Amino acid sequence: MSARLNLVVLGKQGAGKGTQCKRLVDDYAIPQISTGDILRAAVKAGSPLGKEVSGVLESGGLVSDELVNKLVLDRMNQDDAKRGALFDGFPRTLNQAEALDALLGDDGVKLVLNLDVSTDLVTERLSSRRVCQECGTIYRDSDIEAISGTCEKCGGDVIQRADDQPEAIRKRLDLYERDTAPLLAFYEKRGLLVTVNGDQTPEQVTTAIRQVVSERGLA
Ligand code: ADP
Repeated sequence: MSARLNLVVLGKQGAGKGTQCKRLVDDYAIPQISTGDILRAAVKAGSPLGKEVSGVLESGGLVSDELVNKLVLDRMNQDDAKRGALFDGFPRTLNQAEALDALLGDDGVKLVLNLDVSTDLVTERLSSRRVCQECGTIYRDSDIEAISGTCEKCGGDVIQRADDQPEAIRKRLDLYERDTAPLLAFYEKRGLLVTVNGDQTPEQVTTAIRQVVSERGLA
């Protein structure tokens, strides 16, 4: 089997990880594994997992490493992840990064893309973010009137995520600095980290990422 393309996308909340991963899945024919999406889907479905994590998600806290590591393990065992994956929102702690290494074995993480955006800009983006509850399409609060609160892609309700309220935003960004920012040095030491300016149009960011992936001979 050819080597797996395991790409990790790091960056603050609102840096554009999800948007970029969605654009790259077709290019590289590997799935996006977003722990946030998996957890939100569980909350929406009202499953036992969803009931367990809903309070943590709403407050902007972090779900336990143990639980998230297991979710990723299960997801990686599905057929579509045999050729690799785009990890979005995982790993978020050093413990999770070590769990990912153990999970991937010899065929480890190939590249870590750090989408770099200032705290002021992500705070602004998150505060004005609205999202389709069904398909996850992202809108701005200024779009809501034009689309009457209904997603143009799937007709789902467009809402503000509970964790995009000011207090939860602050908490998430604090947790990013405390728990996730140390991962930058962790991957830098291994020569895997590439920082991309996230303060450009989504198209420009995608172009920059594609260039790095190709320069490294990964795809
Ligand atoms: P954001 O990066 O904007 O906070 P995500 O969609 O990645 O959004 O995650 C939403 C929430 O899901 C997080 O605030 C956290 O509660 C939980 N979560 C997602 N991924 C992880 C993870 N790897 N470890 C712990 N909690 C997570």
